[in-house]
Amino acid sequence: MSLQRISDKISVIDSPLSGMRRVLGTYLIEGEKTAVIDPGPTNQTLGVIDALQIHGVKELDAVLLSHIHLDHGGGSWKMAETYPGSFVYCHPRGAAHMVDPSKLKAGAERLFGERVLEYGTITGVPSDRMMESSDGEIIDLGGVILQVLWTPGHSSHSQSYWEPDSRTVFVGDAVGHVMGEGGPVVPVSPPPHNPVRAVESIDRILGLRPETLCIAHFGPHENATEHLNRIRNRSILWDRLSIQAAKEGMDLEEFTSLVLEEDELMNQIEESHSPERSLKGGLLGFHMYGKWKLEQG
Ligand SMILES: [Zn+2]
Repeated sequence: MSLQRISDKISVIDSPLSGMRRVLGTYLIEGEKTAVIDPGPTNQTLGVIDALQIHGVKELDAVLLSHIHLDHGGGSWKMAETYPGSFVYCHPRGAAHMVDPSKLKAGAERLFGERVLEYGTITGVPSDRMMESSDGEIIDLGGVILQVLWTPGHSSHSQSYWEPDSRTVFVGDAVGHVMGEGGPVVPVSPPPHNPVRAVESIDRILGLRPETLCIAHFGPHENATEHLNRIRNRSILWDRLSIQAAKEGMDLEEFTSLVLEEDELMNQIEESHSPERSLKGGLLGFHMYGKWKLEQG
């Protein structure tokens, strides 16, 4: 089955999207109450619900979103419908868009085109089931707590969840994603990505001295500090290169080549993961940020 235990209270559900696995990890936290982090878009959420049923979870108390991008939170309405006792938590900047996802859907279609159809039907979460998180808020599940930490950068509405007992942090996309084996290596930067904020957020996460890093795309990783430092250095390098690229009027293609010249990234990714292609997606937000920064002087 697609549920794997990480510790006695934490599991990861790998629900496939269009037959693909390891696309998005949905984390299940079990105390006296039960929460999931990032149910995914609707077509993935259906698999999460199946996995929860097989695992014996009948009621759910909280659906916690790392941010409201549809590949993380698009199926929240389905969770709310299936589990009438549950509440959906997200950053205050995102809550209204979860109630009325029309702008989110339009934005995702602009960025991903037809691929958004894979997500399935996406509709709103009832407003009386939405909870706006505050920074530092404690979510007490009885026997296990999670603390909300605002970690903007990837998006302005990114928040992480810290489980102090096992020193595990659930970061959504705030840190980066994994290509191949060996842990997270690449920042994810859909526009409007803010690399300065992203590095501040990584520093904040580092300050927790976490041991396990639970990444949305994909999976739990030990040696959290090592991974965080690697992404931190890469973010700073790419930020610098994005400004150089903007000054030299490079397009995304040329900026990607520049990064591949300057970064030892290629050594860390298996050939099979077609780094250039995935990299362009990872670099888009940096590229746009560089241009914006240059315009600001
Ligand atoms: Zn995202």
